Amino acid sequence: MSQPAGNKHVEGRGWVVLKFGGTSVENAAALRRVAGLVAQQEGAVVVVSALAGVTDQLLAAGEDAARGRLTAAQQSLLVICDRHSVMARELLPEASAGPFLTYLQKEFEGLAKLLHGVAALGEFSPRTADRLVGSGEVVSSRLLAEGVFAAGRNAAWVDARQCLVTDDAFGQAKPLREATNSRLRELVLPLLESGRVPVLGGFIAATADGTPTTLGRGGSDFSAALVAAGLGASRLEIWTDVDGIMTADPRLCPDARLIPSISFAEAAELAQAGAKVLHPATLLPATEKNIPVYVRNSRRPRSRGTRIVAEGAEPVTVRAITSKRGVVIVEARLRRQADAHTLGQILKACEGYTLDLCSVSQHSLVLLADSKLAVRELERTLRDVAEVQGENHKAIVRVFGDRIGRHTSVVAQIFHALAGIEVRLAAPGEGERNLTLVVDEDQAAESVQRLHNLFFPSSDQQANEVSPAGAQ
Ligand code: ASP
Ligand code: MG
Repeated sequence: MSQPAGNKHVEGRGWVVLKFGGTSVENAAALRRVAGLVAQQEGAVVVVSALAGVTDQLLAAGEDAARGRLTAAQQSLLVICDRHSVMARELLPEASAGPFLTYLQKEFEGLAKLLHGVAALGEFSPRTADRLVGSGEVVSSRLLAEGVFAAGRNAAWVDARQCLVTDDAFGQAKPLREATNSRLRELVLPLLESGRVPVLGGFIAATADGTPTTLGRGGSDFSAALVAAGLGASRLEIWTDVDGIMTADPRLCPDARLIPSISFAEAAELAQAGAKVLHPATLLPATEKNIPVYVRNSRRPRSRGTRIVAEGAEPVTVRAITSKRGVVIVEARLRRQADAHTLGQILKACEGYTLDLCSVSQHSLVLLADSKLAVRELERTLRDVAEVQGENHKAIVRVFGDRIGRHTSVVAQIFHALAGIEVRLAAPGEGERNLTLVVDEDQAAESVQRLHNLFFPSSDQQANEVSPAGAQ
C-alpha cells in the first residue's frame, strides 16, 4: 500500500487521507498499531473517530444530566477521561505524556461545567449535545497526533472545527463546501507541504462563526471524504475492523471472501441491503471527484481491502449475496382498479416505515416493509380502499451482479440452488444491479449459504494479501 517512492512532493493528488474508526483506536495497543501505520505513509492526512463507545457514553451523560442525574453523568466523564489518560501513559514518552494529561484534565473540566449547565437548565439541546459529544473526537485526535509523533513522525493536530464549516443544523449539520475547501487549503495544505502529518478529528465541525457542530452519527467517514475532496487527495482509505466489503456476511458464510473492487452504486446498495461496513453515501464528496476509496482492516494491514470506484469495477457475474431479516410482505387487494389516488392513499398509510420493494398490478399492490409495520392498523385505515394482508417473518435475499436478471442461465442456476426453499417473490432490484428474492426468515441463512457455494465455491481461492512489494 505504500506510495511509489519519491511521492513526498507531488502536488495535490499525491495526498492520502487515512480515516480510522473508533475500534481502530479503542485501546493503547490499537492506537499504537494505527500510529505505526500512519508513520509509514508519505503524504498522509489522518481523520479519526472517538474511541469506540465514547460518543454513546457522552450522549448518555448529557441525557443523564438533563434528567437530574448529574452525579452519574459526571462519573461517566471521569471514566472517559481516565480511559484516555491510561492510554496516554502507556503510549507516550514522559515528555509528551505530562502536557497531554494536563490538557486532558482541562478539557474534561470544561465538559463537567457544561454538564452542570445542562443539569441546571434540565435541557440538553442539540447545540449543547454537539459541543459535548464532539469532544470525543477532539481528545481522540489529539491523542493520536501525540501517538504518531511518538512513532517518529512530525504530526500536527489540526482542529477540525476550524476546517470543516457547516450550517447550524446541530446534530446533522451540512457542510458548506467552498468555505471548507478554502479552510483546508489554508490550514492543512501548508502542513502537508512541509512534510508534517496533519491529524484531525472526524465528525466534528463548526458554523462559520465557530459554534461547534457535528455531521451526524457515523459522520467521520463523511469528514474524511470532505477532507479528501477538499485537498484533491489521490486516495481515501477507510480503516476499520473488517477486511473490507465481503461477498456475504461472514457470520452466515465462513467462506465469504473479500470483494476486491466494487462500484460506488453497488457498494451503496450493498450497504442498504445489510452489509454494514460503511454508508457509501458519506463517501460521495470523494467519489464525485473520482478519488478511489479503499476499505481496509487496521488489524490486518496486509489485507488488500476493497476498492470502491466511481465506475469500472472489475466485471463479474455475481458480486455478493446479502440478506435482511424482519421483513413483512404486505398485499393490498384493491377494491377498484388501481389509480394514482388509491395507490397514494396506501403509500401514505405506510408513511414512517421503511419500504423496500413494491409492485403494482391492476388490482393489487404488494410491498415489502420492515416488520414493524402494523398490518392490523393498515387493514383498518384502508378498509374502504383495499383488503390488506400481511405475511410476517420473511427475509430479503439479494444476489448482486450487473443486470443479473437478464442472464437467464444465471437465474436458472439460482432457482436450482434454492430447490426446496419457497421463494415468495422474485424481482430485479434497483438499477438491475441485483435479483431480489423473498424467503422465510428461518431459511434466509440457508439460502445465502447455498447461493454463495454456487457462485463462490471454496475451491476457488484468491489472494487477499498485499504482496510484499505493495501492490495497488
Ligand atoms: N464518533 C461518531 C459516532 O460514533 C462518529 C464516527 O465514529 O463516525 O457516531
Ligand atoms: Mg464509524
